[in-house]
Amino acid sequence: MSDVIYMDNNATTRVADEVREAMAPYLAKAYGNPSSVHTFGGRIAHDVDRARQQVADLLGCDPTEVVFTSCGTESDNTAIRSALAVYPARRHVVTSRVEHPAVRNLALRLARGEGVLPRYRHTELPVNSDGTLDLPDVGNALDDDTAVCSIMWANNETGVVFPVERIGAMCRETGVLFHTDAVQAVGKIPMTLADLPIDMLSVSGHKLHAPKGIGALYVRRGCRFSPWLIGGHQEAERRGGTEAVAQIVALGAAAELAGRRIDEERTRVVALRDRLERELLARCPDARVNGTTASRLPNTTNISFEYIEGESILLMLDEYGICASSGSACTTGSLEPSHVLRAMGVPYTAAHGSVRFSLSVENTDADVDKVIEVLPPIIKRLRELSPFGREE
Ligand code: PLP
Repeated sequence: MSDVIYMDNNATTRVADEVREAMAPYLAKAYGNPSSVHTFGGRIAHDVDRARQQVADLLGCDPTEVVFTSCGTESDNTAIRSALAVYPARRHVVTSRVEHPAVRNLALRLARGEGVLPRYRHTELPVNSDGTLDLPDVGNALDDDTAVCSIMWANNETGVVFPVERIGAMCRETGVLFHTDAVQAVGKIPMTLADLPIDMLSVSGHKLHAPKGIGALYVRRGCRFSPWLIGGHQEAERRGGTEAVAQIVALGAAAELAGRRIDEERTRVVALRDRLERELLARCPDARVNGTTASRLPNTTNISFEYIEGESILLMLDEYGICASSGSACTTGSLEPSHVLRAMGVPYTAAHGSVRFSLSVENTDADVDKVIEVLPPIIKRLRELSPFGREE
């Protein structure tokens, strides 16, 4: 797999060598249970504490505010369900149209009254054509019946960054709990949660060079909280279940690594992304960037190549070992454009031909050169074959 050019880091990342080395002992000799009374298990509790501190350092919060979970999805679900549980009389939730399914599908279920929870009123805030929210819409949506407002920090498909500080301030003014899904932002955008009006924030390990199966939820000290997984006393009663020590240690190591690399994300990675984008737009007619370029993650570009299918582009890139992803909901087996691009009103012919490149510090100039070399001829060839081809 060494000749793969991997530009799909918003889907998942490679486990960093240092992270794999840090977790390895816990899959071998150090297999104890951190809750055990004996020294063999008990000393592992210190390693869990160290990992909690490493995550807290990246987030700029206190370690007691970090709850380990199994993934970003669990963190999102826990945060929203907790808010509903602590405010049982409130029956309204606010999200945006571009949330990840981990938030969006839960909110849609609540709106339909499916599952064990009662029916909720749901305001799904629209985004404009550049993928951003109109802030007054947020203020207008919040009322004293709102249990939680959950708006992502950065969008996984377009990289668009949302003004979470201002949204959080609006929530605080109206006494509404504010949760943000920061799965794509953590490690790419510096943050000091101690200074921000955010009540809960979701993290996912596999987006920042830790393995899959580990996440975290930041719960601000003083924020009312109700656990979702009920069990033992782990995580200070906030999440039952024996700690996944190897994964927790891995997330700690990955957080520390991300802290060291964050400046590189914002300088070298952004330069790679910008060159890739600039050259592709210059070499491919009828191509456009989806989402504002004013406030974006440093590593992401989402480009629509009109009149062709994103899936076909991906298949042809795959022949060169280039990994990217498309804006079609291929995960559902359909070729419908993604809910994010639809929410932005991207025209059908453009939404279908969208490709997301998401880079990481592991990408090189040579990777970008290769994509710039092979993609324009692919676009040209597909357009010649396309039944929707442009009339020249
Ligand atoms: N939120 C966002 C914005 C994501 O991009 C993802 C994963 O793609 C998730 C949540 C879910 O994270 P996980 O895969 O750890 O459950």
